[in-house]
Amino acid sequence: MKKARIGIDLGGTKIYAVVVDETDKVIGKAKSPTPSGATVADTAVVMLETAKAAAKLAGVRFSAFKNIGVAMPGAVTENSDLVFGAHNLGWNGVPAKAEFEKWFGKPVALGNDVNCGVLAEARLGAGKGAETVIGFFMGTGLGGGVVLNGKLLTGSHGLAGEFGHVIIRKNGRQCSCGHKGCLEAYASKVGMAAKFQELINNRGEKSLLTEYIAGDFSKLKSSALAKAYKAGDKVTMEVLDKAAYSLGLGAASVAAVIDPDRIVFGGGVIEALGKKLMSFIRKGFDEHLFALRPEQIELTVSELGDDAVALGATLL
Ligand SMILES: [Zn+2]
Repeated sequence: MKKARIGIDLGGTKIYAVVVDETDKVIGKAKSPTPSGATVADTAVVMLETAKAAAKLAGVRFSAFKNIGVAMPGAVTENSDLVFGAHNLGWNGVPAKAEFEKWFGKPVALGNDVNCGVLAEARLGAGKGAETVIGFFMGTGLGGGVVLNGKLLTGSHGLAGEFGHVIIRKNGRQCSCGHKGCLEAYASKVGMAAKFQELINNRGEKSLLTEYIAGDFSKLKSSALAKAYKAGDKVTMEVLDKAAYSLGLGAASVAAVIDPDRIVFGGGVIEALGKKLMSFIRKGFDEHLFALRPEQIELTVSELGDDAVALGATLL
């Protein structure tokens, strides 16, 4: 195995390492829980163990990897490789690259997690064959990324592709970033949770979701949303369809800046409901697209699922 590569997805709850062969096929993977409240050094130790376990399953010696890609749940500055705003880890302004390199004994490339997911989709998944790809990943928040000719656009401060904080309404809904009216406040699980609470708790509307999530809107799972939607739950359908429409509107705004030939939409809810939500994304997109005919930009659903971020890290 000459050209095997390794990528690590360092998430707030789990560390996920994948090893791919020269055709980008996953040949080994391993998972560990992320140590909570740990230092960079303690986290690096668990990452190294996880990476070695994935390498062993792939039949590759750890020493054979030239470098290691790591996807971080925060912003990564291009030159200094400091990690900012990794709130899930409690890290801010941390020189993670230098610390990881010390523990791994080889060069490390860092990337933002959603950027990595979009990079993988652009090169290996739903964006394959397109030149300019942008991606929107709807999870707890709303992340994104821009890939130009197979390369990630990171920006001057590591923040390129933060589409969740494009403002779509003046004095609109409160966003977790402190501003109001961000796209994330409408098209993310946190944004939808606020809307569900308003409809169900404040206006007394009945929804299957109340039972599926045991009344705890802070833990809105994609699987519960998909289940309620598929069962025809009126409140869930209304909230998700509107979120999808807002996402389409936001994508049209971003398309006016980047002019992509393909846009990939991902995240648990979108992957579970695919075509149903795509029709609302499409509507919001088509109604706000500047200068182009809608068919000039292809809208697709992500294909790589949970592997996307770690796979993207192998491409850094
Ligand atoms: Zn915001």
